[in-house]
Amino acid sequence: MAKKQFQAESKRLLEMMINSIYTQREIFLRELISNASDAIDKIYYKALTDDNLVFNREDYYIKITPDKENRTLTISDTGIGMTEEELENNLGIIAKSGSLAFKKENEAKDGHNIIGQFGVGFYSAFMVADVVTVISKPFGSDQAFKWESEGADGYTIVPFDKATPGTDIILKIKENTEEDQYDEFLEEYRLRAIIKKYSDFIRYPIKMDVSGQRPKEGTENEFEEYKEEQTINSMVPIWRKNKNELTAEDYENFYHEKRYGFDKPLKHIHISADGAVVYNAILFIPENIPFDYYTKEYEKGLELYSNGVLIMDKCGDLLPDYFGFVKGMVDSEDLSLNISRELLQHDRQLTLIARNIKNKIKGQLQSMLKDEREQYEKFYNSFGRQLKFGVYNDYGMHKEDLQDLLMFYSSKEKKLVTLDEYVSRMPEDQKYIYYASGESIERIEKLPQTELVADKGYEILYLTDDIDEFALKTILNYKEKEFKSVSSGDLGIEPDEKDQETDESSNKELFEAMQGILGGKVKSVKASKRLKSHPVCLSAEGDLSIEMEKILKAMPS
Ligand code: ADP
Ligand code: MG
Repeated sequence: MAKKQFQAESKRLLEMMINSIYTQREIFLRELISNASDAIDKIYYKALTDDNLVFNREDYYIKITPDKENRTLTISDTGIGMTEEELENNLGIIAKSGSLAFKKENEAKDGHNIIGQFGVGFYSAFMVADVVTVISKPFGSDQAFKWESEGADGYTIVPFDKATPGTDIILKIKENTEEDQYDEFLEEYRLRAIIKKYSDFIRYPIKMDVSGQRPKEGTENEFEEYKEEQTINSMVPIWRKNKNELTAEDYENFYHEKRYGFDKPLKHIHISADGAVVYNAILFIPENIPFDYYTKEYEKGLELYSNGVLIMDKCGDLLPDYFGFVKGMVDSEDLSLNISRELLQHDRQLTLIARNIKNKIKGQLQSMLKDEREQYEKFYNSFGRQLKFGVYNDYGMHKEDLQDLLMFYSSKEKKLVTLDEYVSRMPEDQKYIYYASGESIERIEKLPQTELVADKGYEILYLTDDIDEFALKTILNYKEKEFKSVSSGDLGIEPDEKDQETDESSNKELFEAMQGILGGKVKSVKASKRLKSHPVCLSAEGDLSIEMEKILKAMPS
């Protein structure tokens, strides 16, 4: 039997493809600018091996021209252009990438700045345009051609006139409909914003004629409109610059430009890694907690760039939850992106980068703790709670990473101390790391349970945050010292010899009477060896302290 071909409504298919690949319409500009940049790159690589060709940087640029009257948006480049055959192959066949082929051919020449690879980016133009016209003159030829299409039901190619080599892509922007707005893609301010967002670090200038107003000559209060060509993109990303060339102010400006926060960054971390995975990153530890930090709306993550082109606003996989307050960006050439470039295909490189970043943040916090105690305390006041949650969450699997970063208020030092500081001060006969929980430092100080421990001259950590005791219970022991609540039954402290012999039996009647009066509120009444100035105290029998039991009881079950 003869095999029949599937009939596909190709226009619908193209629409479906485009609309399922891309989540945001505005990225068409990112795609077309990336193609233009690739086209210039190709001349650049040609010049590397061709002695007759000199690459003058000034001659190469991308120009964006909106025309509201004609509803067109033109993206021009002075790049390598396309021959008739290339127009046919590269734009006529979906998923055919001339750039990927170029990269493969020129592997040895290090073509890694070239962005294209999937052969679909170009078609994103149809998300905003009814008609796409491409006028291209290939480098080294006299003949230009015009390619034109209204979508997948076909295209035409005819010879055309064009003075200089390069490519003009002319989009006939769609009319607004009730649901969809397209006018914005003809507005200078909007185009500028899109360019800044996605293409700020394209290495060739992206120019646009920007309107302004100036006083009219020969008049006093009259103004006239004028156009001035401006370069919109900053081109050299700060993260590719040498650390030594950058000042604290540069980083701070970047932090604000990127709107990472309204505060000042407390610290920045600039990473240029070229080990197992190559990437650049600039990370910030903010000074203050973002106002929505403890709400569901807060989304952790770093900006992710592939070769200077923004791929993702907030890549959550790059940060562990407990460092979710860190802001910043990562740029890598080593990512395998999926076709929309908005998702990552394999996460091996990403996992490597994430692990690396985690260690850098940890290292930075550790050195801050060591050398800039005041700064660290500032940080800890904002985000310490997050670290304690980090210890407790995920069954304690991150405790090794975090335990040295924790601090608690010390009964002796009257300030925050680390576990390491506590343990290093422990007298030889002290078996446990003692802690007391309560609502506030003042209230803990008044707890009768602290008396015996304090009397022995032992330091007590005051836990005032709900999560504190859970964190310590998760750590279990630090440097082989177990944690012990001052309210637990056995404190591991030998009573002094001359302490009154407590005779349970002689007080039996009294204890029974007391228990009777208290009803079921206490489990037993016993003589205590730990009290000095208080007549009575509560103590816990099991593993849980009284405070912890309170919290657990308050939790919805
Ligand atoms: P990709 O960029 O992933 O290769 P596209 O669909 O964006 O896929 O583009 C398809 C191909 O068309 C490119 O690989 C390139 O060969 C060619 N092309 C697109 N735009 C231009 C341009 N402005 N100048 C020269 N060639 C271009
Ligand atoms: Mg492309």
